[in-house]
Amino acid sequence: MSNETLQAVKGMNDILPDEAELWLWFEEEVRDWLHGYGYRNIRMPLVEPTALFKRAIGEVTDIVEKEMYSFEDALNGDNLTLRPEGTASCVRAVLQHNLLYNAPQRLYYSGQMFRHERPQKGRYRQFHQIGVEALGFAGPDIDAEQILMCARLWRRLGLRDVALQLNTLGDAASRHRHRVKLIAYFEQHRDRLDADATRRLYTNPLRILDSKNPAMQELVAAAPGLSDELDEEAIRHFDEVQAVLKHHDVVFEINPRLVRGLDYYNRTVFEWVTTRLGAQGTVCAGGRYDGLVEQIGGKPAPAMGFAMGVERLLALLQEDGMALPKAEVDVYVVHQGELAGRLASRVAEQLRDDRLHVLLHCGGGSFKSQMKKADASGATVAVVIGDDEAQAGEVSVKPMRGGEQVRVKVQTLVETVNKLIK
Ligand code: ATP
Ligand code: MG
Repeated sequence: MSNETLQAVKGMNDILPDEAELWLWFEEEVRDWLHGYGYRNIRMPLVEPTALFKRAIGEVTDIVEKEMYSFEDALNGDNLTLRPEGTASCVRAVLQHNLLYNAPQRLYYSGQMFRHERPQKGRYRQFHQIGVEALGFAGPDIDAEQILMCARLWRRLGLRDVALQLNTLGDAASRHRHRVKLIAYFEQHRDRLDADATRRLYTNPLRILDSKNPAMQELVAAAPGLSDELDEEAIRHFDEVQAVLKHHDVVFEINPRLVRGLDYYNRTVFEWVTTRLGAQGTVCAGGRYDGLVEQIGGKPAPAMGFAMGVERLLALLQEDGMALPKAEVDVYVVHQGELAGRLASRVAEQLRDDRLHVLLHCGGGSFKSQMKKADASGATVAVVIGDDEAQAGEVSVKPMRGGEQVRVKVQTLVETVNKLIK
């Protein structure tokens, strides 16, 4: 057997304790923000039947064509996939448990997603999303609400330079008319299509507009636009979304080339983009997907949702020089001697009964070296116990950021510590 050190899978990151502090802080902020809009948490499995994503995301999308971690269950031969996104699973769960019966749902989830991409800054093979889905809402009010929500989160996090891009994809009929025109246009310029575009010409010509190939940009820019095909109702819907955003002074740019990489979107689509993360600048993306519920086998229901890329948002926060918050230690318990050791673990438990965060020194050593550790821990208070104190049923309490050390009875320790902490 080789004794080479084993490494994590390429593109899948460990989040070490210092950085995890930032994640915890972020997750708490996000949870509070979501609850402020009445969204409720839902948790789906990381693994789903492959067929779910093929049906929901679309066979000729980047994700399904080349990014999914799919495998055969070795025990029963089922075709399974590590989830590349959350919307499909969320809708599946809602339908499976009949959550849309009688009431619309505002839901959110967070967690790992898996896509086999080329790892680079802001693009990983395991990454995290916070996903927000509103199911059973047809009107433009919910579209606007979700975009306003995002704007609030950026404000709350103190994020600068995230710009909103907006577009409408219209409805099925106008998309169909547009598709016919697109195919005719690209057929005329067949010699200028790259391999991806040639392959998509008849299966998903809209996706050609999303091409990142610089050589295709000119051709794409001159392609027939969807905006000429929109019907009145879709236009009214989009106008209303914009009116609400303007009413709230949310700045946006209409980007007619914004089509999103997944098949299920219609009407409003949006992305929040920053120029400060290089090519991986989209931190949040979403839109309306009125057809998806039916596509997955449910009774038709309109829906709107978005997902944020957590790694990208945190990178942006760190770019802004956001200091890493540290988990708080209230008390560090220092002790020497057998009797003192036993009292130390007892008072540590007592303090924890009062919900304080306590580090009990383990591993022995001189008072001096233990006090160094107490200092390094960032604790507000050190509790110091020697055998003579233990014998008397007392402990010494030392405020770590200045102030006199005092000796108190064990019974009054919790009260003394609390006074120093507050
Ligand atoms: P991109 O165009 O960057 O590939 P996408 O359109 O595939 O993004 P979505 O499926 O809309 O992305 O996912 C929503 C968000 O999740 C993205 O805006 C991004 O912030 C984040 N995201 C997507 N893929 C990755 C990845 N491989 N690594 C890190 N974050 C990602
Ligand atoms: Mg992608």
